[in-house]
Amino acid sequence: MFDLKGRVAIVTGGNGGIGLGMARGLAGAGARVVVAARNQEKSRKAVRELEQAGGQALALAVDVADEASVNALVKSTVEQCGRLDILVNNAGINIRKQPQEYTLAEWRQVLDTNLTSAFLCSRAAYPAMKAAGGGKIVNIGSMMSIFGASFVAAYGASKGGIVQLTKALAAAWAKDHIQVHAVLPGWIDTDLTQAARRQVPGLNENVLRRTPAGRWGAIDDFAGIAVFLAAPASDFITGAVITVDGGYSVQG
Ligand code: NDP
Repeated sequence: MFDLKGRVAIVTGGNGGIGLGMARGLAGAGARVVVAARNQEKSRKAVRELEQAGGQALALAVDVADEASVNALVKSTVEQCGRLDILVNNAGINIRKQPQEYTLAEWRQVLDTNLTSAFLCSRAAYPAMKAAGGGKIVNIGSMMSIFGASFVAAYGASKGGIVQLTKALAAAWAKDHIQVHAVLPGWIDTDLTQAARRQVPGLNENVLRRTPAGRWGAIDDFAGIAVFLAAPASDFITGAVITVDGGYSVQG
């Protein structure tokens, strides 16, 4: 039910943070994982780590905001691994500012990296998944897919869009046996949120107070959900929006 042997997975932003947590889960379940990001030194380090744990992995460079780069990533994956079964659209950035201070270039950078990227990668992956007889796509949203905050105009728009893109792709591709889901992380300890802790006064205390589990999430909290959504165990589930947040979103 949870066996991914013989499957090939691309994890964008798989060289660190939540993407690496998901890559660990997928590789541990037997999938060959393509770590797809810009920083190749960081990607090679992640590949070494996955291999040392007994998994199969390779690093391919991509800028997910660039259409040609995304198409080249999927082409290389299929050439080098023979197929593509699983896509995790995880790469993301944030620029924390009040809405009136955003330049159009900054707005576009966040939307392109977080949302348009998921469309580009999914569109590029579709033919290979269809040819393989099915596939699994996991898009990473955020608590900002649900809530608002003064400093997340572009990020929140991109993460809200991720949920609706997920539902549209799920509806379109169910007939091709491709299931598409959104995972909405709570507050997870990564490079992204280390920067947020420096920029947003009181964030650490607020996260600990508001999260019923009473802690920040760890990247390994994402291994299990990645395996479940990538495996035959979830074949009749599609378009689901799943929080992995220690209860953050259910506390009134
Ligand atoms: P990190 O900053 O640790 O990781 C971000 C990853 O995205 C890196 O691997 C980075 O690799 C990659 N990336 C960024 N831009 C691009 C690009 N243009 N092309 C290819 N890869 C890119 O952050 P997290 O692990 O925290 O975030 C991962 C996802 O989870 C994001 O979508 C984020 O919005 C989401 N998330 C995180 C939360 C948290 O609390 N941490 C909460 C909710 C959502 P490289 O720089 O090498 O390209």
